[in-house]
Amino acid sequence: MKILSIETSCDETSVAIVEDGRNILTNRIYSQIGIHQKYGGVVPEIASRNHVTKLPYIIDEALAESKLSLAEVDAIAVTNGPGLVGALLIGLSTAKAMAYSLGKPLIGVHHIEGHIAANFLQFPELAPPFLTLVVSGGHSHLVLVEDYQTFKVLGRTIDDAAGEAFDKISRVLGLGYPGGPAIDAAAKNGNPEAIAFPRVMLDKTEYNFSFSGLKSAVLNYLNGKKMKNEAVNPDDVAASFQLAVIEVLVSKTIACANSIGMKSICMAGGVSCNSLLRKMMGQAAADAGMTLYYPDPILCTDNAAMIGSMAYYNYINGEESDLSLNGIPGLKIGTRQ
Ligand code: ATP
Ligand code: MG
Ligand code: FE
Repeated sequence: MKILSIETSCDETSVAIVEDGRNILTNRIYSQIGIHQKYGGVVPEIASRNHVTKLPYIIDEALAESKLSLAEVDAIAVTNGPGLVGALLIGLSTAKAMAYSLGKPLIGVHHIEGHIAANFLQFPELAPPFLTLVVSGGHSHLVLVEDYQTFKVLGRTIDDAAGEAFDKISRVLGLGYPGGPAIDAAAKNGNPEAIAFPRVMLDKTEYNFSFSGLKSAVLNYLNGKKMKNEAVNPDDVAASFQLAVIEVLVSKTIACANSIGMKSICMAGGVSCNSLLRKMMGQAAADAGMTLYYPDPILCTDNAAMIGSMAYYNYINGEESDLSLNGIPGLKIGTRQ
């Protein structure tokens, strides 16, 4: 089954065609990062307008690259939440128009379930159950994937998402947007032990995260230095901040997996591109006798192929959407409306 999928939940305009949930025939991604960079973050209205102008061309590119015609596509899938509502609606209206005019099924997909499904594209042997650390721009979740349709949130951030913390700290350090790759790069030149930022573990028996206290600690450190007229080494701050985030993510994930006796762990979302996270989670998983999976960076950040993968499992499990499918900015994982 070949599914054409559309992802426009934030600032990537992406169209993919994926076969049977596992095989990428094409995955075209137009990133608007260059457009939003000068504002220091995504401007929702500008994102929507760019989806409108770019999406038709990206659909043509995907069809051309896969050498398929629309008649050869079996279904149309689209992200319907969570995300920026205006941005979601561009993908949704396009997908609905295509499904209706072609007389093909429409499949709504949850963006975060899509991030998790990116692992299915990379690892043909991977199947539920497994535990996933979802760390993206807007989410930090520990999700037990019991089967292709059953997602249990075992932990979540009670304030900022990990990616959000990277983006904010990068901004105050003047390292630019998006912050994750900038901090990752700066940290390579810094000393991670230079500043002892707090590791916020919360209750040891719970798997929730909190990153706002760490963010305040970094801001207080920078303000203190400024007041004393002392120089700041941004590379050291980046490295020390990054280590504080990653240590918490790794230790909570391994503890959570241990608590449910799970030996397979996946990572998903943009922050799982982070080089220190990959290294430290890899080491911790190996020490604990667990198998760790994470996709290539291009499948960690927003893309439509992950939506096409999840859509396949929705569809074969009897989930088809109708034309009332709506964009839901705060769509909860495991829910549809
Ligand atoms: P969500 O999926 O929660 O709706 P999003 O789609 O904006 O949010 P993603 O595209 O999954 O998020 O990821 C983007 C985030 O990943 C940004 O916050 C970015 O800074 C972060 N990121 C990307 N690369 C890295 C890296 N190497 N290290 C840390 N963070 C990174
Ligand atoms: Mg993005
Ligand atoms: Fe995302």
